[in-house]
Amino acid sequence: MPHTEPTPIGAPDLAGVRRLGDNLAVLETVEGETVVCVHCGTRIGPLSGGAFFAALARRDARPTEAGPHIWHDPSEYVDAVVVFWQLFCPGCLTAVHSRVVPVDRPLPNDDYRNWL
Ligand SMILES: [Zn+2]
Repeated sequence: MPHTEPTPIGAPDLAGVRRLGDNLAVLETVEGETVVCVHCGTRIGPLSGGAFFAALARRDARPTEAGPHIWHDPSEYVDAVVVFWQLFCPGCLTAVHSRVVPVDRPLPNDDYRNWL
């Protein structure tokens, strides 16, 4: 079996593109505005309506994984199941959005302009 090197994740040339924070940017494409990862260049999905959220990888963990400042047992204060919620670039797994939220909270499609 021939040995082949994996294709390195290349830093895309994103000069002049609109940044959406430290990890995401918007490319103008023939399909419209597309959200891309600034680290690996993965085209994540359409900006319109926050549709790109559905393409992000998601991990739910115990709230304590968010750090020592998070109370260890949210059930003492709320009835809902609370998780440390992280959304990642599907190409390089950079965390692009992290929150401690109720497990059934919908993706932030409606308010993404506030956190980007
Ligand atoms: Zn990436």
